[in-house]
Amino acid sequence: MKYSAKNGAKWLAIYVLLVMIPFLCAISGSLPEYRGPVIEFGVALGFVGMGMLAVQFLFSGRIREVAPKFGMDNILQYHREMGILALLFLLMHPAILIFVQPEFGEYFNPQVNLPRAIALSSATIGLVILAFSSLYRAIIGLSYELWRLIHGTLSALILIVGIAHSIQVGHYLNATWQKMAIITTMGLAIYFVIHTRIVRPWVNRKRPYVIRNIIAERDDCWTIELTPQGHQGMKYKCGQFVWITIGSTPFKMQQHPFSIASACTGSTIKLTAKNSGDFTSTWKNLKPETTAYLEGPFGSFTPEPEKHMFMVMGGIGITPGIGMLRTLEQQNSSKEVILLYANPDWENITFREELERLRTVVNLQLIHVLQELPQNPQSNIEKGLIDYEIIKKHAPANLNDFAFYICGPKPMMDAAELAVRDLGADWRYVYSERFNII
Ligand SMILES: Cc1cc2nc3c(=O)[nH]c(=O)nc-3n(C[C@H](O)[C@H](O)[C@H](O)COP(=O)(O)OP(=O)(O)OC[C@H]3O[C@@H](n4cnc5c(N)ncnc54)[C@H](O)[C@@H]3O)c2cc1C
Repeated sequence: MKYSAKNGAKWLAIYVLLVMIPFLCAISGSLPEYRGPVIEFGVALGFVGMGMLAVQFLFSGRIREVAPKFGMDNILQYHREMGILALLFLLMHPAILIFVQPEFGEYFNPQVNLPRAIALSSATIGLVILAFSSLYRAIIGLSYELWRLIHGTLSALILIVGIAHSIQVGHYLNATWQKMAIITTMGLAIYFVIHTRIVRPWVNRKRPYVIRNIIAERDDCWTIELTPQGHQGMKYKCGQFVWITIGSTPFKMQQHPFSIASACTGSTIKLTAKNSGDFTSTWKNLKPETTAYLEGPFGSFTPEPEKHMFMVMGGIGITPGIGMLRTLEQQNSSKEVILLYANPDWENITFREELERLRTVVNLQLIHVLQELPQNPQSNIEKGLIDYEIIKKHAPANLNDFAFYICGPKPMMDAAELAVRDLGADWRYVYSERFNII
C-alpha cells in the first residue's frame, strides 16, 4: 500500500466506525434517563472498549485482504497499541462508575448475584492478565504458544462477558433488535478467531507439502525445501512469508511465520530458519518426506516494479532478500540492487557463497558490514554496525529511483529506518519486515 494522508484517513475512518458499533447500537434506540456526564462517560467507555476489543480480532494479522496493505508488523504494532487502549477503557468503565456511585459495586457482589459477580470479576482479572502477559511475556518466561493460547481464549471470553453484561444491564440495549445487533456484530469478531484457528487449518489439511530436503547453512541456519503434494502450490510474491506447521496435521499450536527464501517462479518453496528456539532447533533433525502445512502468502515486503532496490539486512533477516535476488536471477532482470548485509563475522554470513555467485548474474552491489573483519578483507567489506554513515556512503545518488527494504535485528532496523529517513528517502517506498513481532 502507498502511504498517504488520504489512505490513512480512509482506514482510520473505517477503524473508528467499526469500534463505534456497540456505542452506536446503544444510542440508536429510545434513550433512557440521563444520569450525568461522568456516569454516561463511564458507560460510553465500556461500549467503546468492547468495540475496540472486538476489532482486535480483525487485526490479529491473518486477514489476507488486510495484511498485505499495511504489513504484518505494522498491523501487530497497531493491534498492540489499540489493545492497551481498549484494556484501559474497559478497566476505567467500572472504576469510574463505582467511584461516582458506589452502588455500582453491587455488580461485583456475589451475595447480590453470584454468576454475575464471578463473570465480571473474572473478566476484570482477565483484562489485567491479558495486558501483563502480553507486555512481559519474555520476562515471565511464557512460551509463545502458551501465551497465544491464553491471549486468544481470554480475549474471546472477556468479549463474551462484555456482550452478556451489556445485554443483562439493558439500560441502553433495551430493544430486541439492539441486543441482536450486539450479539451478531461482536459474535462475528469472535468468529474470526475460530476461522483462523479451526476453519483455515480444516481447509488447509487438503493442501499438504512435503519436505524434500534439509540443507545446513552458515550461522546455524537450516533451509527446508517443500513441494506441494496433490495440488498446485501457492502463488506468492518474493519477499512474502508463510505460516508453517510441521507434522501430519495442520491443527497444531506450533505455527510459525517464515519469509519465503525461494524464487517466486516455481512451486518449490524454500524456508530458512536460524536455530533460535524450541521450534527452529528441530529443523536440523527433520527427515525428508515429513509433511508440513503452509498458510499464506502474507506480507507486503515485496518489490516495486518500477524501482531499483536498496536492501539493508542483518543476519537471518536476509531470507526475504535472498528470495528477491533468486527471483531476479530467474527473471534475468537488470534491476539494480544494493545490499548492505550486516553480520558479526565473515564465517557466519548466511548464503555467503550464493550471494557471491548472485553478484555475477544479477545487477547486485553487495556490501558486507561486519563487526569483526576477516584476515584479508575484500574491498566490499565495511567494519562496524549499520549506521547513518555507512548507509549514506552506499546510498545511490538517485534516491527516488529506489525502494528500500529493511530486515534484521531490531537495533539494526531502528538505525536503518532513521538513516534512510534522514537521507530523504520517500517514506512510501521504505519497507520494513520485523521478525520479532511480540
Ligand atoms: C514475518 C516474519 C518472517 C519471519 N521470517 C523468518 C525467517 O525467514 N527465518 C527465521 O529464522 N525466522 C523468521 N522469523 C522469525 C521466526 O518466526 C521465529 O524466529 C520463530 O518463530 C522462533 O520460534 P522458536 O520456537 O524456534 O523460538 P522461540 O525462542 O520460541 O521464539 C523466539 C521469538 O520468536 C517469536 N516467535 C516465536 N514463536 C512465534 C510464532 N509462532 N509466531 C510468531 N512469532 C513467534 C517471538 O518473538 C519469540 O520471542 C520471521 C518472523 C516473522 C514475523
